Amino acid sequence: MTSPLLSDRILSLPKAELHLHLEGSILPATVCALTARHGVAMTEAEVRGRYAYRNFPEFIEAFKWVTSFLRDPQDYALIARDLAEHLLTQNVVYTEVTLSVGVMLLRKQQPEANFEALLRATEPFERRGLRFRWVFDAARQFGAEAAMKVVELAKRCASKAIVAFGIGGDELSVPTEAFRSTYDKAAELGLHRLMHAGETGGPEKIREAIELLGVERIGHGIAAIRDPALMDFLAERRLPLEICPGSNLKTGALVLQLGRKHATIEDHPLPKLLRHGIPVVLSTDDPAMFHTTLQTEYENAARMGLNQEELLKLVEMGFLHAFDLATERREARST
Ligand SMILES: [Zn+2]
Repeated sequence: MTSPLLSDRILSLPKAELHLHLEGSILPATVCALTARHGVAMTEAEVRGRYAYRNFPEFIEAFKWVTSFLRDPQDYALIARDLAEHLLTQNVVYTEVTLSVGVMLLRKQQPEANFEALLRATEPFERRGLRFRWVFDAARQFGAEAAMKVVELAKRCASKAIVAFGIGGDELSVPTEAFRSTYDKAAELGLHRLMHAGETGGPEKIREAIELLGVERIGHGIAAIRDPALMDFLAERRLPLEICPGSNLKTGALVLQLGRKHATIEDHPLPKLLRHGIPVVLSTDDPAMFHTTLQTEYENAARMGLNQEELLKLVEMGFLHAFDLATERREARST
């Protein structure tokens, strides 16, 4: 691996990837294999045509389209192996992968069987030094009742590999307040709590997620840049933002939060948030769908002006805010 923007040290360091959607990581060649399994012939060029969007709703449409080909446990095993091979090329040794269990339930699939297939598919990679942990994810727009079913499924799967419950999807749909009992239940089961907030929604969505639901890491959260008091609060409480610059550029979240018509990656607020003392974990979100990799995101961070020391800090923070590793550190301290 080489890069004109990154030192060999940054490139070669092992990394953690904490905001990563399994269904957004399906490379065009694998999409073709999936569609072929279900009787639809497609070329990679056609898939690439589908993986192009001008805004967030168009991205959601493409996400729905690609997930419509995830129909049985073998499909999930196929894409998990593909993702694992990709992560090894990026020196990732620990990942928390978000799984759209809410979508599986909507499509009346058997999430337990899909999850079992994922565990089996990723097990050989654990031996190769890549640890997989899972986030069971509900879609906000499907409502609180559907979200509770995702939490219940996490309980039924009863796997230590499930570390957190999260909510993504359309931030402007259902009010945060509606999910109180869902997050209470998740906490009761010992799951960590995550939520996408301040991606397309305003800074108040971030505050609500923390204050009403006890969320421990915020997905995206770039809207914080619009609220200095919230920035202070995040820094004081050491609440991490999972920042995915390539995603923000491609979905239009960046121009939206900056209130501009055009923006480039250099305009991303990551440096301001980081230099304000807010923990930042750098991630890819949906790497195949946003044509990015973890290395590309480190290059993006370098383009924003982060120096070597700050890039090293980003690598460290990926491990520091990883749920399972934090638990291990606590346990190690208490023995
Ligand atoms: Zn996401």
